[in-house]
Amino acid sequence: MNRRQFLSTTAGAALSACGQKAFAAKFDLIIRGGRIIDPFPQLDGIRDVAVLNGRIATVEKTISSAAAETLDARGKLVVPGLLDIHTHAARTVEGPSLILRDGVTGWVDAGSQGADHIVETIAAARSAPQLGRVLINIGRAGVLPDGDTMDLKRADVALARAAIGKNRDFIVGVKARLSRDVAGANDYEVLRRAQEVASEFSLPVMIHIGQSMSPLPRLLELLKRGDIVTHMFAPPPNSIFDDNGDILPEVLAARRRGIWFDVGNGQHGHMRWDTVATIMKTGFWPDTISTDWNANSHETGVIDLPNCVSKYFGYGMALDDAIARATANPARTFPFLNDRGTLKAGAPADVAILELREGNFEFLDNYNNKITGRQRLFPSATILAGKIVPRV
Ligand SMILES: [Zn+2]
Repeated sequence: MNRRQFLSTTAGAALSACGQKAFAAKFDLIIRGGRIIDPFPQLDGIRDVAVLNGRIATVEKTISSAAAETLDARGKLVVPGLLDIHTHAARTVEGPSLILRDGVTGWVDAGSQGADHIVETIAAARSAPQLGRVLINIGRAGVLPDGDTMDLKRADVALARAAIGKNRDFIVGVKARLSRDVAGANDYEVLRRAQEVASEFSLPVMIHIGQSMSPLPRLLELLKRGDIVTHMFAPPPNSIFDDNGDILPEVLAARRRGIWFDVGNGQHGHMRWDTVATIMKTGFWPDTISTDWNANSHETGVIDLPNCVSKYFGYGMALDDAIARATANPARTFPFLNDRGTLKAGAPADVAILELREGNFEFLDNYNNKITGRQRLFPSATILAGKIVPRV
């Protein structure tokens, strides 16, 4: 190489490095050509999404600038990262990474543990790749096969209070499981104690309903604005509707005073298709759709959150409404999720790429009954804080 050639090569290299730098500085990632469904600004259309420094930079019809990385989302849905407010993801250290692949970028562990072992779920939440927080079970030993609070002594106010006091950053509420086989005849007193603890810290209580000993209206009396009723599709006795299939007036009143109603799909005793049909027909639809996820969920009727969301298409719920119940709505239930659930410019760049497939899909309730749906959402890719999560 002579001197002249050398100069021109280095000049060329400098120029292209410079050009490269200009490209890289524009955006870190562009998700191209997907169908964006963003419930909060009510956007449903084909758009490009640009990400910079872990946040959504802009959403436009066509973004001509280049980016360090490009994701082709043509033919797919691009929605805010999914938020699942009833999981048991913190039971194991791997749980959070598993649901991240399903598109879940924010979750709540709903009472897997009580005061005795809450540090374990908090450790799992702390080491999670995405945002995760926990509800403390008012039963000090957490979920027990023979009933968390069948022995009322386990609903220990002082211990729960001390645990929250020490872990304000990770405990975001109190869980009270109130079925006959969990709390027995103690249900009302267990909830009273859960509320005593939660109110002191201005935290919500999540109650697990269905097949309780006490009538549901009596339990609802103890709830305050911001509290959450999970397993809203639980079959009788003590479900949310009466013998005529009408929603109980106390349930309607509870929603009016700001109490949320959540699905909590689960595996046993929490949903039956005839109950779902009765409730959906009244127009009393869930505020949030959650999985009640466990490490075995992929082998059960739960599968993943996109699958649980798809179950309501057959009951008249439109795609946008269903997506809102796993993004924008759950973002309003807990303060730590308040800036999530949207793809607006400035929001954290947590994104779920989903496929909406057409065909015949079997959906299971908790009693092995099947319905067939024509559409089902499948997770395709997850973007967390602006980075594409590797598929394993
Ligand atoms: Zn649960």
